[in-house]
Order: sequence, then C-alpha cells, then structure tokens
Amino acid sequence: MRWQTGRRSSNIDDRRGRRITRRGGAVESACGLAGAATGPFYCPRDHKVYIDLSFYRDLKERFRAPGDFAQAYVIAHEIGHHVQNLLGILGEVHASQRRVGKTEANALSVRAELQADCLAGVWAHHADRVRNILEEGDVEEGLNAAAAIGDDRIQKQSQGYVVPDAFTHGSSDQRMRWFRRGLQEGNINQCDTFRAASL
Ligand SMILES: [Zn+2]
Repeated sequence: MRWQTGRRSSNIDDRRGRRITRRGGAVESACGLAGAATGPFYCPRDHKVYIDLSFYRDLKERFRAPGDFAQAYVIAHEIGHHVQNLLGILGEVHASQRRVGKTEANALSVRAELQADCLAGVWAHHADRVRNILEEGDVEEGLNAAAAIGDDRIQKQSQGYVVPDAFTHGSSDQRMRWFRRGLQEGNINQCDTFRAASL
C-alpha cells in the first residue's frame, strides 16, 4: 500500500506498516493476544496490523459486507492507525484519554477511528489513481462495510438499542461520510476529525 499524499513534509515512513500477520490461531502481539475474538486491530507498540482471517467470513456473513474491496477497506483502516501513530496522533489521543472520563474518552476514540476511515479513503483514492484498483461496485462495497461496522448498527444487533455515549468507532453514517471524504479528496488534510465541528 502506498500513502502518497502529496504532503512530503509529513515524512511518513511507511515501511514498517507493510507487515501484516496472517495466521490461523491466536498470536501474541505487543498489545496482548490477537485472534478471532479480538477482531482486526493495529498495535502501536510493535507497528503491526493483526487480522485473523476469520474476520472476513464474519464481515461477509454476519455483517453482510462481502467483496474484496470491503476487505481492503478494513486493512486500509488499520494502516490508517499506523499513519496516525507515525504522525504522533495516536499517542496524543491515548494521553488525553487518560486524563478524561469515560464518555469523553469514547468521544476521542470516535474521532480517531473516523480519521482512520478517512485515511483509508485517501489510500483508495491514490491507489486507484496510480494503479486503477477500483472496479465497478467497489466504492459501494467499501461504504457498505463502513456502515456495517458502525457502532449504532452493531449495538442494535447485539443489545437491541443504541447508546451513543458508548460509541468508540462512530455511527454507520459517520463512518461512511469520512471514508467517502478521504476517497473523494485524496488529501489527509481533509481528515482532521479532531477539529471538525460536526462528525
Ligand atoms: Zn480502528
């Protein structure tokens, strides 16, 4: 994956972000055990993305978000966290979260997650421009996946009601909106969810 953003001054060293672990059972990450139960995540301590491939079956069957581009979106979102890490954003978010209460910490998490969605869109924008990766239906697949793993939809499925204060990733609408924004703009400067008045 290439993060060509046109913002050379950000000096992103993306080499370590390319390593993706693919294994069947649970593996030890520097952030704890990684496996089917944890879902995909990025570990800032070892700079690796962990995805148990059974997640893709869940994405297709449980979340009803099939397609190769839905899968690419998930990886791009996690690599987006790597970019946030390299830019110092993740560290700042985690430090702020330690100083505030639960609701505010969740709100910060939502902003960080929506930014990762936007960065995933930025990746797709440039990957398509350079290598023509997008086929018909891909954008819809990605948006559908973003919506499928929105907090409101997951809460509704699992507990039957929605508690916005408990959101950690953003609603389906928000996730689609920020992914689409990155995809259309292709510029990480358009992904400042922390200063956005409305998400
Ligand atoms: Zn995330």
